[in-house]
Amino acid sequence: MKKVITICLILFVKLIGAQDQHLCSISKLSALQRSSLTKNNLTNAQASLIEKYDVGFHHLSLSVERTSTFISGNVRTIARSRVATLDTFLFQLHTNFTVDSVHGSNQTPYSFTKIGDVTVVMLPQSIGLNQIIDLTIYYRGTPPSGASAAIGNGFSNRASPTYGNQITWSLSQPYSAYEWWPCKQSLQDKIDSIFVSVTTDTSNKVGSHGLLKQIDLKPNGKHTFHWQSFYPINYYLVMVTVGQYTEYRQYAKPKGYADSILIQNYIYSNPAAYTNNATSILATKPQLELFSDIFGLYPFHKEKYGHVMAPFSGGMEHQTMSSMGIFNFGIVAHEVAHQWFGDNVTCATWSDIWLNEGFASYSEYLARRYLLPNTALQELTDMHAASKQEVGAVYVTDTANVNRLFSSALTYNKGAAAIRVLHYLLGDSMFFEVCKTYQTRFANGNASTQDFNDLVNELSGKNYDFYFDQWIYGIGFPAYTSTWNQTNGKFYLKVKQANAHSGGLFSLPIAFNLQRAIGDTQIVLDINTSEQNIELPVGGTISNVVIDPNVWILKNSSMTKDVGLSVGAQAETASLRIYPNPGEGMVWFEPSLPNTARVEVIDLSGRTCMTLSGKDGFDLSSLQAGVYLLNVRDNAGKQQVIKYQKY
Ligand SMILES: [Zn+2]
Repeated sequence: MKKVITICLILFVKLIGAQDQHLCSISKLSALQRSSLTKNNLTNAQASLIEKYDVGFHHLSLSVERTSTFISGNVRTIARSRVATLDTFLFQLHTNFTVDSVHGSNQTPYSFTKIGDVTVVMLPQSIGLNQIIDLTIYYRGTPPSGASAAIGNGFSNRASPTYGNQITWSLSQPYSAYEWWPCKQSLQDKIDSIFVSVTTDTSNKVGSHGLLKQIDLKPNGKHTFHWQSFYPINYYLVMVTVGQYTEYRQYAKPKGYADSILIQNYIYSNPAAYTNNATSILATKPQLELFSDIFGLYPFHKEKYGHVMAPFSGGMEHQTMSSMGIFNFGIVAHEVAHQWFGDNVTCATWSDIWLNEGFASYSEYLARRYLLPNTALQELTDMHAASKQEVGAVYVTDTANVNRLFSSALTYNKGAAAIRVLHYLLGDSMFFEVCKTYQTRFANGNASTQDFNDLVNELSGKNYDFYFDQWIYGIGFPAYTSTWNQTNGKFYLKVKQANAHSGGLFSLPIAFNLQRAIGDTQIVLDINTSEQNIELPVGGTISNVVIDPNVWILKNSSMTKDVGLSVGAQAETASLRIYPNPGEGMVWFEPSLPNTARVEVIDLSGRTCMTLSGKDGFDLSSLQAGVYLLNVRDNAGKQQVIKYQKY
């Protein structure tokens, strides 16, 4: 059964190809499908019991070799009681493991019962609200190996088929941490700080979180790597990786940050592993600096960022050190961006996973926009094409459906495409203000889709619930069928809108680029019904009309010239009008504009002559006599084009 799943997945990856199936999605789906678990594997009573304490600190002290997945060691946990009376301590650890003992801080042995994947420890005396539990769990065993390590277990061992290096590594997202260490698998309870000490053969290095404090030499050819991190971390982001590595260092220098940030790369000791991947590895520095600029300073700047190689298909955003099966510009950017979106701010529930994966995937585009601009358009085209491979909403309603949870089409690509629409609606300045505030407000914590929606509304001063209804909770995307014509100096456009699938219609300002020998001009129209017609006076001969020329919108569209369109086309009945029109200069709007409105005055060659803002009336007396288009945008984002004739 599991073997079959493995074969299917490998075939799937090969057939679909990296450009269609997101690499980050491949690794996570694989880990999930291999596991028999689809949920947290706790009964309601157990889930309630495990929430009665708040984890403050873990120290994993393990012995691990690169040649097998066998683990022995202990995990110290310091937690705080969340209830008035706590007499038991419940943790999760796979049934494969033996728990040898549980000790209190004074070495007192505690009694415990292990049934299956759950262990219940009897505290010697009950403790009260906010009182501290400090205990150490001694355990050993071999983690479950559901499927081939080629596609990742909770804890895996394999030699790289390309470079030969044998590696032992963990990949716990979303529910597999308990397959290798005793833990509490709760998204909402971040571990405040973590130490990871791993003893292994002196030929190995160990990758993990935070800073490498020291390496202790031990008897029998062993040494111990001591990693320490003082940033809160989710259970599924905890990682150890053991193998023969060569270390390559870089230092990032984010704008406005006085210090530099270590980028610590553990690359297979086979020299080809570095030379083949150097370009992508070296892209980490400009990417980390870029994201520090647009999202706010790298959240773990007091420690490090890094990569550690492991032979699986994809990448995994382990906090402060991503595990990498392969390197390319996109996947490096994706995992770097996850340090902000996923690690610093973690999705509040698995339903909100698009907040991790959508932002990390959109960041691949942003990295190209700023660092490799010639490749940015292709990234958007690929993202939109990949979004269309599955029908559904970005938001996940069934988190037990593992294929849906880490769906490359919906969670990654449509998530990214939806974020691009929000970027378009908000504009650069507000979009990046939202990104930065999201990072500071929810730093070291979690955020839900509703939290993000509330933040967008608050910062923009507008209600963007419609966007979340249409793009995050809604199904499908818009399909526009447009026809146009130009006759007697007038431009006619008919836009029909449908949902490409079964969802509702979309409300969006859509740009149309009118291509002319005398210079292109662009009009922006609010498209929000199933059919809209517009008639505008436009000079010059229009050779072609392009919808959404900057590729902001995930859509299907067609645009054809219809020489009969002038007949029967209805000019848009604008709800807004200006008077006097024609006039000599001073104009007023009816209804009057809010003082946040912006008015762009465009001549018939498409040139912007004036940009006005504030309350009307406006003084247009400096314009030469002629016909102008007034592009009016009010504070609700509504846009209208009004023709004005100046005497
Ligand atoms: Zn990802």
